[in-house]
Amino acid sequence: MNKNYIGYRPTWAEINLSNLAHNFQQIKKLVSPGVKVMACVKADAYGHGLIKVARKLAFCKVDFFGVASVDEGISLRQAGLKQPILIMGLLLKKYIHPVFEYHLTPAVCDEDLAFALNRKARLLGVPINAHIKVDTGMGRIGVLYKDSEEFIKRIHKLKFINIEGVFTHFPFAGQDRGFTLRQINLFDSLIRRLKSQGINIPLRHTANSMGIIGYKNSHFNMIRPGLALYGLYPAKYDVGTAQCAVPTFMTKINLKPVLSLKTRIIFVKKVPVGFGVSYGHTYVTKKKTIIVTLPIGYGDGYPRNLSNQAPVLIKGRHFKVCGNICMDQIMVDVGNLPVKAGDEVVLIGSQGKSRISVEELAGLAGTISYEIVCGLGSRVPRLYQ
Ligand SMILES: *Cc1c(COP(=O)(O)O)cnc(C)c1O
Repeated sequence: MNKNYIGYRPTWAEINLSNLAHNFQQIKKLVSPGVKVMACVKADAYGHGLIKVARKLAFCKVDFFGVASVDEGISLRQAGLKQPILIMGLLLKKYIHPVFEYHLTPAVCDEDLAFALNRKARLLGVPINAHIKVDTGMGRIGVLYKDSEEFIKRIHKLKFINIEGVFTHFPFAGQDRGFTLRQINLFDSLIRRLKSQGINIPLRHTANSMGIIGYKNSHFNMIRPGLALYGLYPAKYDVGTAQCAVPTFMTKINLKPVLSLKTRIIFVKKVPVGFGVSYGHTYVTKKKTIIVTLPIGYGDGYPRNLSNQAPVLIKGRHFKVCGNICMDQIMVDVGNLPVKAGDEVVLIGSQGKSRISVEELAGLAGTISYEIVCGLGSRVPRLYQ
């Protein structure tokens, strides 16, 4: 595995691409045959590495990629990926040319952008595929639901825009089942009304990971998993019970985490009682002990508000970060554990029988799993297995 160059600082993330493939298959098992999968690989594939992840998914026969920006789409094309790519975010009118140059599929929810795309496509003599984004309750982007039918009918008249898809997004599939079911109904009713007027949109999609797992009728004929592909559960982690509050309606799904975060002890010291550790001395030893220093910090995206909280694994046992997390270093009180510089430490992942999950860290840091993995910095090399 260690063929990739990771530099001289022993801090790295391991990305298990077999687990990614496993999760992809698990997700496919939840949906009817024929339902397409758009893998969401925005934000550097949630911090896992855009190109490596996309290549593995292409090997697994993914149908579509979903990214946030044109630039992410261009990166995929430059790496040779041939699948259709939906830009799920919006673009400015003056920046539409790369969409044509790189065969990207824009999301459309305003008429000005649609006109600009139509004009450019006419000049080139080739219609462009677009997906219409409808706001059924997310309140972010999308044509407002009440205007959506008329909007789509107007776009449908533009000769050089081919409405290949229509989609919407769920703001709280994990919390409010009634609200989400109403969104699904609204979307379904829009599609029926359009159909009755002869407008058949080939791809209809609503489901993020929580939608896929919890709402069978949200699948339509394409799903958009992100988080679940990376083996993370789209549910709130409860620090009190140390469990993901998986809503009871969630279908059972067996996901395997893809990312592990590891480092090595860089310094060991024996200290007396009353010894202050790190900025602000928020940790002072209560007895004679051993403190180790690890070369990772908030400069790598290891959240500072995990100070005095985050668990780490050394020799298969749980210890806790002590003192404030610094930009490049953290300390751990290991008691009387015999350790030496160079010993491996797991910050996310398994060691022996012990495990630290992204969900657990997110819960402790008062955030969501998404932010933990997306936040891992470029200073942390990714090693692929
Ligand atoms: C990121 C994203 C998804 C994937 O969401 P997950 O919760 O990670 O599965 C789906 N749809 C849109 C529009 C997104 O931006």
